[in-house]
Formats: sequence, C-alpha cells, structure tokens
Amino acid sequence: MGTLFVISGPAGVGKGTLVNLLIEDDKSLALSVSCTTRSPRVGEVNGKSYFFISKEEFLQRKEEGDFLEWDEHFGNYYGTPKSFVLEQLKTHSVILEIDVKGAAEVREALKGKGVKPVLIMIAPPSEEILEKRLSGRASESEEEILNRLKRAEYELSKKDEYDYTVVNDDLNEAKETLKKIIETEKSKRRF
Ligand code: ADP
Ligand code: 5GP
Repeated sequence: MGTLFVISGPAGVGKGTLVNLLIEDDKSLALSVSCTTRSPRVGEVNGKSYFFISKEEFLQRKEEGDFLEWDEHFGNYYGTPKSFVLEQLKTHSVILEIDVKGAAEVREALKGKGVKPVLIMIAPPSEEILEKRLSGRASESEEEILNRLKRAEYELSKKDEYDYTVVNDDLNEAKETLKKIIETEKSKRRF
C-alpha cells in the first residue's frame, strides 16, 4: 500500500507546477484528479487538470457518496473522487492537491480506514510574490485574483496543522525539498 500526500497552499503559490514536476520525475506517484464545476482555463485538459462536470452531475455524485471531501470555492464546486484515491493507494503513493478544509476532511474520512495522510503546505516567499504569480498566470479576472488573495491568508493560517511547510521561492529547490519529504515518508510507510 502507498502513502497519501495532501498538498495545500494558496492559489497561485505554485502547487500545480510543483506537482507536475514531481509526477514527471517519479512514476510511482499517482495524482488524484478532482472534479469541478468551473470552466476550464486555457490549456487545461479534461481528465488531467480536473474532470470538468456539470453542477447537476456534481450534486448527484455528492449524494451518492462519491467524494472523499468536497467544497465550494468562488461559486463553484470541487471534490475528490473517493474510489480513484482508494484504488490507486493499493499500488501507488497518491498526491491530493486540495485546500485546507478539504485536507482536514480527508484526514477525518480516512481515520476509520487506517490511512494517515502526510500534509504538506506550500507557502509563498511573500504576499507580493504570490500576487505577482497570480496576475502573471493571466488566467483569472481582477476580481477572481482579489478573491484568491483574500483566501490566501486563511489558507496559510492553517499551516500548523500540516506536517511540513515548503516555501516555493526557487522552483527547483522547492521541488527537491518535496522529493526528500516524499522519500522520507514513503520509507516510514505510515498508513
Ligand atoms: P497553483 O497551482 O498553486 O494555483 P501554479 O502552479 O498555477 O499555482 O503557479 C502560478 C504561477 O506561478 C504560474 O504562472 C507558475 O509558472 C508560476 N510559478 C510557480 N512556481 C514558481 C516559482 N518558484 N518561481 C516563479 N514562478 C513560479
Ligand atoms: P482553482 O479554481 O484555482 O483551480 O482552485 C480553486 C481552489 O479549489 C484552490 O484553493 C484549490 O486548492 C481548491 N481545490 C481544487 N480541487 C479541490 C478538491 O478536490 N477539493 C477541495 N476541497 N478543494 C479543491
């Protein structure tokens, strides 16, 4: 059985960039793809970035207990498909990239199943740099960027609940730190 890694951090901090690099380097890691009701951004691929589904389908699957956790952000629903995560964990270590509330719910939901996730917070070097990265991504409107920055403070305030905090300043350094954490935790086989 693999180890479950939960990666959180404010929007624009570089979670997606880092996770993609980790997955490329380590084929034994599986990435959980969340479902969302928001529209795809330019370059996002259905089934890779997210499963883009309708609100109706989301609500139906939620009723059927298909999500390990779910939440609403900025007017859209996001959820982690339960069956995919549990199936993958039988043979792989799995990475979930979800917000702080989702992370706490996953930890609770898996307690009864004997799975103890490793929680990793990705933090920005400064608020200014986070703002620059969010604007630089050029994928959200001014209003959406402001909403995400407001939420950032809350996300970072939960870092004491995490096993590790990694500051994403130099991308390569942050990636190497994450790789070391993953190797250490995999070898502890805490599940
Ligand atoms: P998230 O998934 O956390 O919302 P992204 O991975 O989309 O964030 O990153 C937001 C932007 O910041 C992207 O344009 C990405 O290329 C850039 N970025 C990520 N990490 C770094 C870094 N260490 N230094 C500079 N730019 C970065
Ligand atoms: P974005 O629209 O920028 O991709 O994501 C918005 C927020 O939704 C981010 O804080 C991201 O971490 C969170 N998110 C993405 N997938 C999930 C999920 O499956 N569950 C929960 N709870 N949050 C998610």
